[in-house]
Amino acid sequence: MAEGNCAGQAPDLFFPSDGVGVQVAKKVCIDCPSTNACLEYALALRIEHGVWGGCSERQRRRILKARRLAVQSEAVHA
Ligand code: SF4
Repeated sequence: MAEGNCAGQAPDLFFPSDGVGVQVAKKVCIDCPSTNACLEYALALRIEHGVWGGCSERQRRRILKARRLAVQSEAVHA
């Protein structure tokens, strides 16, 4: 995050209370060089709140669910 676009930004920006705030935060993330690492960090630690790696809380829940289902599907078909 020290190399990310959010360096020097107010942390509150990435913990918005509404959809408009989420969109504002995502605009900062959109061309960040650390997007993938940031997203994977939040997913690995199951961070529920805030915008990480350009993804909202809802988007991260969907990614985790899709990954869980993919693992389950692989186990069934193995
Ligand atoms: S992706 Fe967003 S929250 Fe993550 S380091 Fe970059 S600017 Fe910061």
